[in-house]
Amino acid sequence: MTSEKLPAYIFAAAALTALPAMVYASDNPGAHQHGHAGLQVAVSGNQIDLIFTSPAYNLLGFEHKARTEAQKIRVKDTIAWLGDTPLVNTPESGCSLNEADVHSDAGPDDDNGDHHDHGHDHGEQPGSHSDIDVTQTLTCSGLEDSDELATPLTTRFPELEELSVEWVWSEGQGSVRLAQGESNFTLTAK
Ligand SMILES: [Zn+2]
Repeated sequence: MTSEKLPAYIFAAAALTALPAMVYASDNPGAHQHGHAGLQVAVSGNQIDLIFTSPAYNLLGFEHKARTEAQKIRVKDTIAWLGDTPLVNTPESGCSLNEADVHSDAGPDDDNGDHHDHGHDHGEQPGSHSDIDVTQTLTCSGLEDSDELATPLTTRFPELEELSVEWVWSEGQGSVRLAQGESNFTLTAK
């Protein structure tokens, strides 16, 4: 367990004026549980603001600093994907990115200066967890005509066993838990 270490800019994101107290105040605030991640979505008109927070393990398969070339490539590819791909979309893929910020404390540039190879794998060090946070602002055609949305996260990342999705929209707020491979959800007020 680590406390949330979200940088201040996330709280300053315009999205959050639309996301009231529910942000980070859901069932288990601050939890860092491998296999689980959270996605918070604010829908307004044709715009979606979202925050995705996950243990790095779910997205990378490890949380230590990338050491091998394969690990560095995976970090780079994953961060690029998170910065390029709308993490919520309409069934017709009508969403395009306006802005995306990806913050990781397991980035590929973190281990500069450590070029000697130990020749064995230390594995994950206990207590050295890390998280990846993504904020995005999307413009979506067709959003005002449909309550159906989908996320690519649960199919892109096999280590992601359960994604807790929370949303606020014109009708109120609601939530759903998506299991691995479940992409679609319907905006309903609960
Ligand atoms: Zn962890």
